[in-house]
Amino acid sequence: DPAGDKAGMQQADDLHTGEDSRSRKITSDLPLALNENQFFLVYQPKLDLRDGHYNVEALIRWNHPELGIISPGEFIPIAEETNQIQNIGNWVIHQVCNDLVILKTYIPDLIAAVNISPLQLKDNEFIHKLQNALTDHQLSPASIELEITESALLDMQMAKEQFQLLHKNGFRVVLDDFGTSYSSLSHLKVLSVQKIKIDKSFIMNMDFNQKDQQIAQMMVRLAKNLDLEVTAEGVEKPEHLQMLKKMGCTEIQGFYLSKPLPLEELMGFFKESKTN
Ligand code: C2E
Ligand code: CA
Ligand code: CA
Ligand code: CA
Repeated sequence: DPAGDKAGMQQADDLHTGEDSRSRKITSDLPLALNENQFFLVYQPKLDLRDGHYNVEALIRWNHPELGIISPGEFIPIAEETNQIQNIGNWVIHQVCNDLVILKTYIPDLIAAVNISPLQLKDNEFIHKLQNALTDHQLSPASIELEITESALLDMQMAKEQFQLLHKNGFRVVLDDFGTSYSSLSHLKVLSVQKIKIDKSFIMNMDFNQKDQQIAQMMVRLAKNLDLEVTAEGVEKPEHLQMLKKMGCTEIQGFYLSKPLPLEELMGFFKESKTN
């Protein structure tokens, strides 16, 4: 049916232009977003299984005037390709420090995990900027945790030196999306990290996928043997929590506990969990 084919092609074409124009718009509008105050942070609670206390992970969102809320998965790679990740990353650090001051009136020991692009580590001033942001808010390095996606680590020598420097200065470094890179085990051997975060692809289906369960178990054991803390992300069901608790996982995060929340709602979540 040539007519049908033609219609199908036209449809595919429209879809294509649609996607193209969206990504073109994102690329062209991204440089304005910082000055226009269009970024905001949401916080996802994480539960420590050892004693039941909560910490949080900060996740960025872009409130675009026409496109609505855009996820970081869509614009962070563009920010990295176009040299804007340093400025955005600095904004994130300052905003997290601001919010931590407020959050610490509720939970004094609260630690906020912050996602750091490996490109930020390249900046020799990175650690000083971090230290300045913290001292400006009278916070110590112990109140944040730096999450670095392991598959994004390209320059191992640089990463090794930066991680050591961060560690020496009291910062905690976490290998994010652990298990998704071709060199997860060498990362553990070479890099000075305090925690691994098991990627959600191993956790989300653990209740019915025996393979995922075995791999998660292995990663938890490995972390324990190396004296590292271990977080599981993508905990969506009570069964996941039960399994991870049994394995001896130290921390969990996922929709089962809560989705990422704006600051106001996060405070409500904490008040609620205190009265329960
Ligand atoms: P990530 O660091 O691995 O963050 C976890 C992602 O999983 C978040 O997506 C979160 O909303 C989602 N998630 C949480 N619980 C569950 C669950 O139970 N099931 C499922 N299926 N997903 C869950 P989000 O917020 O869209 O962030 C995507 C990625 O963008 C992050 O992955 C991180 O790599 C990056 N990112 C976010 N904020 C920042 C930032 O401030 N700076 C940088 N450089 N990257 C960021
Ligand atoms: Ca993360
Ligand atoms: Ca992750
Ligand atoms: Ca990720």
